[in-house]
Amino acid sequence: MTDGAPTILHADLDAFYASVEQLLDPALRRRPVAVGGGVVLAASYEARAFGVAAGMPGSRARQLCPALTFVSGHFHHYRQLGDRVVELFHAFTPAVERVSIDEAFLDVRGARRLFGSAPEIAAALRRRVRDEVGLPLSVGVARTKHLAKVASQVAKPDGLVVVPPDAEDAFLRPLPVGLVWGVGPATERRLAEVGIHTVGELAAAPGGLLEHLLGTGAGGKLASLATNVDPRRVAPVAAARSVGAQAALGRRRPTAELLRTTLGFLADRVAGRLRAAGRGGRTVAVRVRFGDFRCASRRTTVTGPVASTRTLTELALELAGTVLGDHGDEDHVTLLGVSVSNLVRCPPRQLELGLVFGDAGHRPASTLDGARWSVDRSVDAVRARFGSGAVGYAAVTLSRASHVPDGFRELAEHRLGTSDGGPGPDRSRRQERLDPGEEGGRVLEQESVSGVGIEHELGLGDGAG
Ligand SMILES: [Mg+2]
Repeated sequence: MTDGAPTILHADLDAFYASVEQLLDPALRRRPVAVGGGVVLAASYEARAFGVAAGMPGSRARQLCPALTFVSGHFHHYRQLGDRVVELFHAFTPAVERVSIDEAFLDVRGARRLFGSAPEIAAALRRRVRDEVGLPLSVGVARTKHLAKVASQVAKPDGLVVVPPDAEDAFLRPLPVGLVWGVGPATERRLAEVGIHTVGELAAAPGGLLEHLLGTGAGGKLASLATNVDPRRVAPVAAARSVGAQAALGRRRPTAELLRTTLGFLADRVAGRLRAAGRGGRTVAVRVRFGDFRCASRRTTVTGPVASTRTLTELALELAGTVLGDHGDEDHVTLLGVSVSNLVRCPPRQLELGLVFGDAGHRPASTLDGARWSVDRSVDAVRARFGSGAVGYAAVTLSRASHVPDGFRELAEHRLGTSDGGPGPDRSRRQERLDPGEEGGRVLEQESVSGVGIEHELGLGDGAG
């Protein structure tokens, strides 16, 4: 289908941070809510009705809206829910370009045979995000990214706006310039000074004026967008390429128990994050640092994606055994790490496909692994409600290794912009520590997720819109 019908969607969660808070705490629903404290990071639509806006000092917001409830953000929930929404987008098309934690472009050109016209897909997206995640999503549908984005902003809150090809100019011209991509408050003021308030006035600005006002690059871009020229395509963003976790141990003898508990703990973290992202990986690697700071690592690639904790633990133990066997002269280890790469999306389990592993327990696509994955998903669900310490494999949960110093963990996760998404509202304050052991070694868990996806999690999204 290469007709001129609009196929680009801009999907944007409404007042994202505030909506998540209202989802987490029913007492906040239909009430004015602001995320933040000193400064408003995001405001619910109920708060916006009073004039409360992102970026405003908290004191001013309270003046405007005395009934305003402030909540300090649950950032791991934001990431987790944002990811779930994007997973839903992928159910319709692989052409998803995530531009921030709470918004994405989709090109549904190739999805229409399966799912209907672009407006039908947009309606289905909104319905599914509402039903399955519980959040309001606004969608704009148009032939270009810019128009789609403008349309989604016009659609807010909780709406759908389709711009038919023959009505593009009529749609765009009366709108305020502030809706044009790249026009912030400062540019808006400058344009207002020369009498430009609408997109139509922007489009009619005499040649050279915008360049003179805003510089050549920005001026030219705005002129193009205002006259409805936007050749940019939806560019799917590569997902994370690997997921890993490591634990520094101090100087420890590599006993079977140390390996079992530490690798079990790390595998639990890594597999949990993979499952939360709807992914599994075919390549598993283990890294060992010895007492003299020399490092060694081993990796193996298996036939099907690994995302179950038990399977990952077993593979990690096997790899660590090989590394230690190769370095029989080393008495101490100071760090163990587990990572999974070669990631693929793997929510639906494929059973018994292309097995080459001899041991059924290691065949990631095997029935046994499928059963483990199902158990893990139940564990994930319990943890999502009651915290990550609530349930787990006995060897890990009962061991001292399941406890990591809270501060370190948060620091590491914060630095890398990742969170394992094992929530519980007070998760950030729950004590978890890794017993330093007799040698008093300090324990630091570092987590790493490589790849472009991180940029989004590090706050390109303001979550405000
Ligand atoms: Mg938004």
